[in-house]
Amino acid sequence: NSILFSMIQPTGKIHLGNYLGAINNWKNLQQSSSEGCTYIYGIADLHAITVPSKAEVLRKNRHEVVASILAAGLDENKCILYQQSSVPEHTELSWILTCLTSMGQLNRMTQWKSKSLQASSSSIFDDKVLGNTKAGLLCYPVLQAADILLYKSTHVPVGDDQAQHLELCRSIASTFNHTYQTGFFPLPKTLLTPSKKILSLRDPSKKMSKSDPDPNACIYVTDDPKTIMQKVRRAVTDSIQGPITFDPENRPGVSNMVNIIASLRNSTVQETASYLSFVKDHKQLKDVLSEFLIEEFKPKRHLFDKLLTDKSYIEQICTKGTIKAREIASRNIASVKSVVGFD
Ligand code: ATP
Ligand code: MG
Repeated sequence: NSILFSMIQPTGKIHLGNYLGAINNWKNLQQSSSEGCTYIYGIADLHAITVPSKAEVLRKNRHEVVASILAAGLDENKCILYQQSSVPEHTELSWILTCLTSMGQLNRMTQWKSKSLQASSSSIFDDKVLGNTKAGLLCYPVLQAADILLYKSTHVPVGDDQAQHLELCRSIASTFNHTYQTGFFPLPKTLLTPSKKILSLRDPSKKMSKSDPDPNACIYVTDDPKTIMQKVRRAVTDSIQGPITFDPENRPGVSNMVNIIASLRNSTVQETASYLSFVKDHKQLKDVLSEFLIEEFKPKRHLFDKLLTDKSYIEQICTKGTIKAREIASRNIASVKSVVGFD
């Protein structure tokens, strides 16, 4: 029996990358579901505090993330949708796994390198470079491995940016199995989304990110048509004339747009590039992209606004999910504790 597991952080509004790279895929997987498949989707608030956050902002973001997920069309009756911090077994397993993970493994994570700004340094012990960087940022992938393994998940749908963390998760699972001579944890498979990575509109060398301080870098699922058009108009392209081509190496900005349009049309980038043969210049490409985005997000924005007016409904869904998640989590952590010798 497959167990699909994924999470999203309540660190800000849901953007196009989260939508195409994660949530839309959660929804599609759910729709093509087979009997006996369990879908578990979490709001990763324990991860969200690895960057400074205020309580009221975290709470507001959590409501917004859940509302966005539901507005995007996820069926809460077909999955377990819950809040990570209300399942304490995540933290329990995380400590056990932390004791099996080497600093070297964590120091090789590219997300850690970029978020701790120590990309230029090869030594984790360099005080000057690390400065005030919090240990939570380094241990983040261990907690992520605990999240996944706690449910003995078999498949993890994520964007391309999480592929390295998933590899680490499999390595930690093997270490646990090997250390305690057990086959307890399955090695979860990474399910990459077709659109893989959506890039920042302002700097196509970076991924679109919730924590990007430039609001023009992201299209949010809740942006109104005027905002979408403004942001797309400001997007970075290139100075190459002639037909639109998909060439990520030489035309990252334009290729990002082709990739987005392809995802929204449920088509391939190659087919979409030829579909776009009527496009004369970058301005026209931007108009086409805006139109697709406005169409896609219009109904979702209305539903999102409606959902946000009823916070108790959102809380109710999460509470229901948390009860189900804890049922599985408490059973599995009991087995883990017995394997480790804590029983
Ligand atoms: P943060 O900047 O706070 O890390 P984020 O935008 O990376 O936020 P997450 O909550 O970390 O969002 O990730 C949720 C999911 O969205 C993950 O599965 C991740 O792989 C996916 N995802 C995030 N950004 C992109 C992107 N630009 N393209 C495709 N998928 C993405
Ligand atoms: Mg992220």
